[in-house]
Amino acid sequence: DWDYILYVNDVLGGESGGDRYLILDVLGQGTFGQVVKCQNMRNHEIMAVKVVKNKPAYLNQSKMEVAILELLNTQWDPQDQHHILRMVEHFTHKNHLCLVFECLSSNLYELIKQNQFKGLSTQLVKVFTQQLLDCLSVLKDARLIHCDLKPENILLKSLQSPQVKVIDFGSACHEMATVYTYIQSRFYRSPEVLLGLPYSASIDMWSLGCIVVELFLGLPLFPGTSEYNQVSRIVDMLGNPPGHLLEVGKQTHEFFNYTGTDAFGKKQYVLKSMDQYATEHRTKEQPSKQYFKQTKLQDIILEYPFAKKNPKQSDIDKEMANRRAFIDFVEGLLNLDPIQRWSPQQAAKHPFITGEKFTGPFQPPLVPGSRKSSSVAPPTPAEPTPQTT
Ligand code: ADP
Ligand code: MG
Repeated sequence: DWDYILYVNDVLGGESGGDRYLILDVLGQGTFGQVVKCQNMRNHEIMAVKVVKNKPAYLNQSKMEVAILELLNTQWDPQDQHHILRMVEHFTHKNHLCLVFECLSSNLYELIKQNQFKGLSTQLVKVFTQQLLDCLSVLKDARLIHCDLKPENILLKSLQSPQVKVIDFGSACHEMATVYTYIQSRFYRSPEVLLGLPYSASIDMWSLGCIVVELFLGLPLFPGTSEYNQVSRIVDMLGNPPGHLLEVGKQTHEFFNYTGTDAFGKKQYVLKSMDQYATEHRTKEQPSKQYFKQTKLQDIILEYPFAKKNPKQSDIDKEMANRRAFIDFVEGLLNLDPIQRWSPQQAAKHPFITGEKFTGPFQPPLVPGSRKSSSVAPPTPAEPTPQTT
């Protein structure tokens, strides 16, 4: 896909009198192209430049990334307060679209790896989660879906401060234009996308649930090796998706057998066995490798080894209280039903985030409190009211 290879000391830009950027280093390789660390030769600022492959599919997606970042940066987050990547300009270089971003540091996958996959403290997980909820609240108000939230697309601002930013809006879309069905990276893919259902901004909240558990554990919660394996891991831990979702999912019959109606006339489904799925799809399905001895989310989190050596009883009590709040929090994000899954605004009120004492299962406010929206915000239609049962 490269008719043009990037080298350190090459210069990007300047083609129509714009700024020129000296390449200092390679920061990342992605599906869309390469990200290089550059120095602006006019003001000497260090920037990150994403050089997009010059294939039409990548180019079109990247034009969308430019449009969405411009909208977010100028209309929704003009003060740069909501943990969204800043794009400063874009230009074409030898037929490649180049996006110029603020230069950030390691991504969260690299951070977990540097920590030998041991997981981050509950305190640090809380700080990052607050910031990610802030970003997702803005996206929801703007009716945008990121569609590829994962540790690789969340970057530390610097190695000194615990501040993150969400990057890679190359898969993002408007809630009214959900054209693609094969979206999200597999480990973070929501039940509604796996089942082939219509989707909304709540798919990002599912991904967030997977991410925050991974930050705590150091390992992915649902490391599916195939679509089927992804579904089966989710079902093993959280049970079947509700019947009304299975009934309408375009992909339901890929993964589930219909077994008839129950006494109330409700349709019943069971997950296909690995063998049945493999036979039908002429694939080899491997049994799920389990990273954790426990199977329930609550047990995995409560029994996760304690980081502190020789902790005092008061340290243990505090950590366990934090973990109980954390479990209740992630259960609200990992709700299989996208309508009942908490919105970012609801999740932000959870004691795990606010620091209030956690006394028992959190009931989010019925009418999701909206973030204070600026005068440029288009009117937002009423959100679906979560059911309380
Ligand atoms: P892709 O769409 O190909 O995944 P990304 O925008 O996610 O491209 O960038 C790929 C990788 O490049 C990221 O995971 C990150 O490690 C690095 N990267 C991207 N943007 C920046 C930036 N602004 N500063 C530093 N590194 C970045
Ligand atoms: Mg990416």
